Amino acid sequence: MRKISCDIVKDILPLYYDNVCSSDTKKIVEEHLSECDSCKDELNRIQVDIIIPKEAIEKNREDSNAIKNISSFWKRSKAKSFITGAIITAILFLLIFVGYIGLFNWNIISVSTDVVKITNVSELTDGRIAYHVELTDGYALNTIKFDMDKNGNFYLTPLRPVIKKKVQSLNGFENNYDFFDIKSQELNRDGAEIKALYFGTPKDNILIWKRGMNLPKASQEIEKMFDYE
Ligand SMILES: [Zn+2]
Repeated sequence: MRKISCDIVKDILPLYYDNVCSSDTKKIVEEHLSECDSCKDELNRIQVDIIIPKEAIEKNREDSNAIKNISSFWKRSKAKSFITGAIITAILFLLIFVGYIGLFNWNIISVSTDVVKITNVSELTDGRIAYHVELTDGYALNTIKFDMDKNGNFYLTPLRPVIKKKVQSLNGFENNYDFFDIKSQELNRDGAEIKALYFGTPKDNILIWKRGMNLPKASQEIEKMFDYE
């Protein structure tokens, strides 16, 4: 079999690759390929070109560039993202915490007088006013806010958080005697005279005492209850 040149082999290679040449040609090409690396490379190049068309190679390059861009963007913004994430997380936790405290412990809801009973208002020997408070709805009373307006109206405002709790003990804040010391409250407020005492808010209240009102004397039992000397 005679030798043929690389140029001829390279011309035939596409036909050889597509398997459309005669068996003689095939033999010649194979014989040549077994001895010629250059033509073997050319055959490989044809295979690669056909398996991965040029367009695909281009697209692949674009994709890989895009991935590189994203990854470098990610690397650049990673630290920034981490800090932002940490700040957002901290803010969320703070909001949840504040929300929890706010809903369960922030006393902002005044108790309606519909569920308040003020009874046994009396005057102790030292002038303090004693009274019994009962909250009839079964929920705890968290705090009582003291307020006085310009006209000398003093408000004892019972407050609860948004989410109220059931009463724990029967004789707690919600069903008990309490007292109010007009004189010391006046001293606390630069001597401003208290003219009336209310349980509730300026809009919704129960009058406990008003100047000029004659309260009954407190019983011995109540006197003892508030005798701190
Ligand atoms: Zn060759």
